[in-house]
Amino acid sequence: MTLSAHYGPGKLGLSFELFPPKTEAGQAALLKHVSKLVEFKPDFVTCTYGAGGSTRDKTLDIVQGVKQDHGLPVASHLTCVGSTRDQLRSYLTEAQQRGIDYIVALRGDPPAGETDFKPVEGGLSYANELVELIRSEFAGFGIAVAGYPEKHQEAPNAEIDLENLKRKVDTGAEIVITQLFYDNDSFFRFRDRCDAIGINIPIIPGILPVTNLSQIQRITSMCGAVLPDAFVSKLGEQEGDDWQFQAGVDFATQQVQSLIDAGVPGVHFYVLNKSQATSAVLRAITRPE
Ligand SMILES: Cc1cc2nc3c(=O)[nH]c(=O)nc-3n(C[C@H](O)[C@H](O)[C@H](O)COP(=O)(O)OP(=O)(O)OC[C@H]3O[C@@H](n4cnc5c(N)ncnc54)[C@H](O)[C@@H]3O)c2cc1C
Repeated sequence: MTLSAHYGPGKLGLSFELFPPKTEAGQAALLKHVSKLVEFKPDFVTCTYGAGGSTRDKTLDIVQGVKQDHGLPVASHLTCVGSTRDQLRSYLTEAQQRGIDYIVALRGDPPAGETDFKPVEGGLSYANELVELIRSEFAGFGIAVAGYPEKHQEAPNAEIDLENLKRKVDTGAEIVITQLFYDNDSFFRFRDRCDAIGINIPIIPGILPVTNLSQIQRITSMCGAVLPDAFVSKLGEQEGDDWQFQAGVDFATQQVQSLIDAGVPGVHFYVLNKSQATSAVLRAITRPE
């Protein structure tokens, strides 16, 4: 099935994003959580690619395992960080051999402590070049790319960032998955601006249900997403993990329902290798049949 075929009239394309655990205990827990999440019949499952290719084999192991265990289409994320074109080709060849369906094609971040992204010699500078490489040499993969409702941190302004997103789309991306956000209006404005510039592929909101205030403050400080003050106050209103979990699930439920009501083609959950929060949100919302 093509990647874009998961989205369409009367459907809500559902995808879950995992990351490669660092320990065996984390791996065992991941398998249990994935078994719970597949009950919601996702269209596909993705796994991130660690900085500098540090999780190269694990990423492929995880998505291949999900495909084998649950019969679902899967996507490997892939970044340009630390890889030459030939190393990227070798990863894509292996992904092809292992039956991976889709690639989330990314540039990746500069290493910690550096502000500018510098490709390795013989490597790629931007995600649109990776999309081009995949399209021209590995045409069987469906391609997703990243989009930023609140602008990518390095972009001088939102217009230039959008033009750069369009390059990825014009080169062959089939869907855009957005960076996490907590202000739906920023997503709706982004969607309108994509429409106005001629980006006509599905724009899929990326949703991270908050379960812990300090964790989400750390994550948003790295990726630049804005946490609304009222939400932060709510999360901090009472002590304890249970309160924060429930406040986060309530917020995400309302956020996702309002996105569905506004006609989004799908939702991509950053599940952080856990099932409880995403399951609670999915149980509470009304999905189109
Ligand atoms: C859905 C999603 C999944 C992610 N998964 C991972 C992951 O698995 N591993 C990981 O390490 N990171 C991941 N990231 C983070 C991502 O790698 C970073 O946000 C990174 O800084 C940018 O990657 P990109 O693919 O958006 O880059 P690009 O699209 O290349 O954009 C990077 C910056 O360069 C600008 N730009 C783009 N193209 C051009 C061009 N041709 N000329 C000039 N400027 C240009 C853009 O405006 C932007 O400011 C993910 C992000 C998202 C939203």
